[in-house]
Amino acid sequence: MRTHTFTFMGTGAGCGVPAFFCDCPACEEARAHPAARRGDCGAMVTGSSRTLIDTPPDLRGYLGREGVRAVDDLLFTHWHYDHVGGLGELEYMVQLLTKRSLPTYASPYTLASIGREFEYMMYCLDATEVQEFETVVLDGVRYTALPVTHAPGTYGYLIETDDTSLFYASDTGALPPATAERLQGVDILAMDATYWKRNEYPQSHHSVQECIEEGLALDAGKIYLTHLCMHYAEPVTLAQLNDYLQQYGGRVEAAADGLSFPI
Ligand SMILES: [Zn+2]
Ligand SMILES: [Zn+2]
Ligand SMILES: [Zn+2]
Repeated sequence: MRTHTFTFMGTGAGCGVPAFFCDCPACEEARAHPAARRGDCGAMVTGSSRTLIDTPPDLRGYLGREGVRAVDDLLFTHWHYDHVGGLGELEYMVQLLTKRSLPTYASPYTLASIGREFEYMMYCLDATEVQEFETVVLDGVRYTALPVTHAPGTYGYLIETDDTSLFYASDTGALPPATAERLQGVDILAMDATYWKRNEYPQSHHSVQECIEEGLALDAGKIYLTHLCMHYAEPVTLAQLNDYLQQYGGRVEAAADGLSFPI
C-alpha cells in the first residue's frame, strides 16, 4: 500500500517559463498554453504530514494551488535564490498558525548561507545540519542526502518508502561516482535537465539528453526531467520536447508543475 504522495511543486530553472524578459518560442508557447508554464523548482511529500523540499520564490502560489494549510518539515537542496527565495512565506505560518519553529534540514553550508540571507527570521526555523550520506526519517519516509555536482553544499535526496525509491536532484551535473553507486536501479529518478542539447554549465547542470543517458545507465525505472529551462542555450517548446521523448515509450517524461504520484 502506497502511503505517500510526491508532488512537483515547480519544475522550471531560474527564471521560469515564460521568463518575463524572453520572447523565445518556448516562452510564447507558455504564454498561450498554461500547461507549458513552469515556476522555480521545489517538491513536496505528503503522508500524514507534509514535507517540503525547497522554498522557491513562487512558494505562496504553489501552497495555494495544492491546498496546503501547513508545512511540517522542510528540507533544502541548496541555497540559490530559485530554491530559497520564498522562505519568507513560512514566517507568517509560524507566527500566526503553528507557533513553533519549523524543523528544517540541510547541509551545513546551505544552513549558513540561509542564516545570512534570512537572519531576521531564523527564529522560525529549528535547523538541523545533515551530513553527506546521512539519512533523516520524516513521517516514515527516509531522506538520504547525497552529494551532487553543483554549488557547495548541494544535495540530492534519495527518498525511500516501503514501496518506492525516488532520487530528487533538481540541480546537478554528472553525478559523483559514490552517489551514482547508491542509485543503481532506483525506481524513479527526478533530475536536472536544464538544457536542451547544448549544456553551457556541465559542471553544475544536465542537458535533457545527458539526464536521460545517466538515468538509463542507472537503470532507473522511470525518469522525470525537471529544472527545465526550455530556453537558456537553444529553445525547445514543450510540444517539441514531448515529441522527442516518444522514443522512450513512457519511461521518460517531462515533469510538470503540480504533477503528483503515489510513492
Ligand atoms: Zn524563453
Ligand atoms: Zn542552483
Ligand atoms: Zn536551481
